Amino acid sequence: MPYFDTHAHLDSQKIADDLHAVITQARNAKVDGILTVATGILSTKRNWEIAKANTGVYFSAGIHPNSVLESPENTLENLQEWLIRNLPVAVGEIGLDRYWHDTPFETQMAFFAGQLELAHAFQLPVLIHCRDAWPDMLSALETQEKRHGPVKGIMHSFSGDEYAAGRCLELGLHLSFSGMATFKKNDLLRKIIADCPLDRMHAETDSPYLTPEPFRGKRNEPSNVPLIVEALARAKNLPEPTMEKALWKNAHALLGIPLA
Ligand SMILES: [Zn+2]
Repeated sequence: MPYFDTHAHLDSQKIADDLHAVITQARNAKVDGILTVATGILSTKRNWEIAKANTGVYFSAGIHPNSVLESPENTLENLQEWLIRNLPVAVGEIGLDRYWHDTPFETQMAFFAGQLELAHAFQLPVLIHCRDAWPDMLSALETQEKRHGPVKGIMHSFSGDEYAAGRCLELGLHLSFSGMATFKKNDLLRKIIADCPLDRMHAETDSPYLTPEPFRGKRNEPSNVPLIVEALARAKNLPEPTMEKALWKNAHALLGIPLA
């Protein structure tokens, strides 16, 4: 079974110089699907170009909470233009972040709510980032769920507690797990993986960040996604091929990509 990396930043400066090698390496590792995730409007355009030039690479359009003020291009109107063109498979990366202070929190909330609405209007899944902002995140998602029903999308590189995992699943979201699932001191995360329904989980690298064991300290690439899938299979006590098959299917179903 091939692998699907549901969250990579192929437009990152850390990858741009040898993008071709990174994609070839991924193919050699049987990573046949990659979702390259935007952090702003300019990043959406770069990721679109990468997706257009490489089969099996899909892109999202969205404004990351820490990137809102990075460029005057980052407006909901510009995002809507991309969604009208009907090319991205998801809206992201969107969310809330109280760890970094690049964007006033009020502004983050407004962009998060606005992008949730746009994703709903265009019937696209969202890719959500949450760092040190769980109470605000859950209440924003609850508001959205009351308005439109279950929220379709992925809580990316899930790193919250069991309560947050349970609430995200109840609100309709899927959970995506990164290289953190391979870190030795992460039994809590492995417990959350064990409890997550098999049809609601995904594997991602978050390249170039969050490199899994045993490559911590090096740049992360989509070719590392098999290491994460292996950790998920172990945490859920399932044979690896069963996990590979489920994840390949889940990614296609959520992103609306037909299974070849
Ligand atoms: Zn990301």
